Amino acid sequence: MNYQADVCIVGAGPGGALLSHLLAKKGLSVILLEQNAALGQAFRGEHLNEEGEAVLKSHQLFEAVEELGLLRMEKLEYYVEGRAFKTILPDEAVGHLGIHVPQANLLKGILQETQHFPHFSCFLNTKVKKLIVDSLGRYTGVIASKNGETIEISSQLIIGADGRYSTIRKEANIEIQKHKHGFDLLWAKIPAPDGWEPSIKMALIEDMQLSLFTQVGGFIQIGWNIHQGSFPQLRKQTFTPFINQLSEAFPELAETVKTHITSWHDFVLLDVFSSHCYSWGTKGLVLLGDAVHTMTPTGAFGLNSALKDAECLASLLNKDTLAHFNVQDFQQMREQAIDEVLAKQIEKEQTFAVNFINMAS
Ligand SMILES: Cc1cc2nc3c(=O)[nH]c(=O)nc-3n(C[C@H](O)[C@H](O)[C@H](O)COP(=O)(O)OP(=O)(O)OC[C@H]3O[C@@H](n4cnc5c(N)ncnc54)[C@H](O)[C@@H]3O)c2cc1C
Repeated sequence: MNYQADVCIVGAGPGGALLSHLLAKKGLSVILLEQNAALGQAFRGEHLNEEGEAVLKSHQLFEAVEELGLLRMEKLEYYVEGRAFKTILPDEAVGHLGIHVPQANLLKGILQETQHFPHFSCFLNTKVKKLIVDSLGRYTGVIASKNGETIEISSQLIIGADGRYSTIRKEANIEIQKHKHGFDLLWAKIPAPDGWEPSIKMALIEDMQLSLFTQVGGFIQIGWNIHQGSFPQLRKQTFTPFINQLSEAFPELAETVKTHITSWHDFVLLDVFSSHCYSWGTKGLVLLGDAVHTMTPTGAFGLNSALKDAECLASLLNKDTLAHFNVQDFQQMREQAIDEVLAKQIEKEQTFAVNFINMAS
């Protein structure tokens, strides 16, 4: 089966979903392809910062997402020896310190507001395998597997919004530089005890950051930095002393932790790295979000940067500019901001322990 659209967007993450909305709103025909059978299936970043919130609000998408469920963080607390020794409250004008938005709610909210555009289609369960290139070296489409059937989509522009392990980037032979940051991350999710306030809490365990994020629906997400590459070794050790450190850092959670984190299987490992591409695209093809600049989880910038990329790219595209679009214009508009975020992440990671100890003493 063959399909045709002005723009083919690969990946219905935050970047791909928002770009689909903005381009369809401008009257471009858009086909959005997502390999998963449902939106927001992969576990991803879910903290919206002020920049991400502003993007959603400026395109009248925030209300739709809010209706599906989100949670505003009321304070940030630093813990030592089981007690909060410092509390940061939000600026009164802002009223919160970031917002937890389940990825599924964010994506469904955006795409719900997009579905009514007649020239927009979203194909789930559709994995892109290859790019189609013409005799002049311009990319003109993709080959994908949709529910097991091979399909082709021709488009004037292909957008690789397909995340940190981007197929589009690989197929277009766009070089990537990866940087390790000295740590990996263990994630776990537990129910929040009664009366738990929407907050972010931080502790320091053997020089490593341990963070708790309250989530929509009465959950707490635990993010625990561990030394880079140490998980295989950690897994061989007994679990109880490790998990006891978590209960000691946050005694209010001791019972919940004991009940809900009972083995290493209750943790998900995130291989932490950042990446950078010298080129953000080529003829007929553009990359955005994690596909072109993966970030570490520090400071929760990745999701927000993907939204900002989508907004910026959409501002450059319309029916008239599509055929002559120059990826350099997009890269120039976004690259410096991305480099600054990456530098900020490295600085935060390198100074967290020292700053924490200074604050606590
Ligand atoms: C565990 C984890 C925690 C994180 N925590 C935070 C946080 O708290 N705050 C924050 O701001 N950022 C966080 N990040 C980063 C954030 O999730 C990403 O920066 C953000 O999701 C990037 O959005 P994206 O649209 O570029 O890509 P993604 O969200 O990765 O979306 C890419 C989409 O493309 C699809 N796809 C991939 N390959 C194909 C293919 N071949 N064909 C079709 N579809 C395909 C994927 O299924 C996916 O839906 C975290 C990341 C991870 C992995």
